[in-house]
Amino acid sequence: MSLAELRRLDAERVIGTYARLPVEFVRGEGSWVWDDEGNRYLDLLCGIGVTSLGHCHPRIVAAVCEQAGRLMHVSNLFHTEPAMRLAERLSTSSLGGKVFFCNSGAEANEAALKLARRAKRGGDVVSVAGGFHGRTFGALSATAQESKQAPFAPLVPGFRAVAPSAEAIAAAVDDGTAAVLLEPVLGESGVHPLAADALIAAREACDRHGAALIFDEVQTGMGRTGSLWAYEQTGVVPDAMTSAKALAGGLPMGALITGERLADVLQPGDHGSTFGGGPVVAAAALAALEETASPDLLARVRELGERLRAEIAALPGVMRVRGRGLMIGFDLDGGGAPELVLALLTEHRLIANATGPETVRLLPPLTLSDDEAGEALERLGAALGARGG
Ligand SMILES: *Cc1c(COP(=O)(O)O)cnc(C)c1O
Repeated sequence: MSLAELRRLDAERVIGTYARLPVEFVRGEGSWVWDDEGNRYLDLLCGIGVTSLGHCHPRIVAAVCEQAGRLMHVSNLFHTEPAMRLAERLSTSSLGGKVFFCNSGAEANEAALKLARRAKRGGDVVSVAGGFHGRTFGALSATAQESKQAPFAPLVPGFRAVAPSAEAIAAAVDDGTAAVLLEPVLGESGVHPLAADALIAAREACDRHGAALIFDEVQTGMGRTGSLWAYEQTGVVPDAMTSAKALAGGLPMGALITGERLADVLQPGDHGSTFGGGPVVAAAALAALEETASPDLLARVRELGERLRAEIAALPGVMRVRGRGLMIGFDLDGGGAPELVLALLTEHRLIANATGPETVRLLPPLTLSDDEAGEALERLGAALGARGG
């Protein structure tokens, strides 16, 4: 099918929630994807932080194929080994409590919100303005962005958004607060690391008022920021956290991971998911987690992140380069980020993302080589040079 035919079907038959870029991809390997005409693109977005070990990583492909040929699904009415092994690995690599499996970031946050309300027997949820937690009603109610929320009012009651500052967070939390939910580095709003004092204030306020501090690590987790979980670099340990995106190396999976205090709050019948923790995605996630938890890989992510940020800052028209590890954002002098991203894709065959009119986001593969990083900088430099600095 030609790209023109795909675009026609998309317009006629698919509910129009996406503004897609005009390319069809048919194959991926490592840091590269190929379109239907055989052109090769360097992928600095990884399907929005999902294929973080590169496309079709051989270990993940092998784990998926092996498990798919053995057993795909029986439901959570029964025991299966991959999910149990994954739960143990996730818990011992992070907060030490228990895990609930689901299929996406939004669902993981829904589970976290239910956990917090159950623990407090009600209570409000405090999140930060500009944060992003997903599109389902609970997650959307914590996603304090007017354009995303307004068309779907009324939202879930009891949600409050505050500025991402220590003072605002401390002032918002009281004895009626069930949870503070935040991303350690805001992703969808343009890669903004939260200030250390804001995270510390959130931790102290939650401790003082018996609220759950929940980190949304859907985007920051699984090595993206140069540690397995971003909270490890903040000096603050949350009571629970959520993961998804890169968790299963390219397949859909989400997880809520608790610390010990909240491990036994949810009881049989309180929550569930037909597909959650299925054998195939769990096998993929086990492979992804074992690859990602390598100290060498994580050190490499930190080092390559520093290099890319320094070199991007020297490119024409670039301002305010920021991020952690290989979660990178920068602004363009005079705006034009969506236009730059389109030119990068169609003329320079580099995949990036615009989170707004002036902000470009890069979520490159954690496995990006030095040569590929050089190639990426060259293509980025050419596109930025062409827009006249
Ligand atoms: C992408 C994202 C979500 C939503 O994940 P879905 O799988 O699209 O539901 C939630 N939180 C953060 C921080 C994200 O980046």
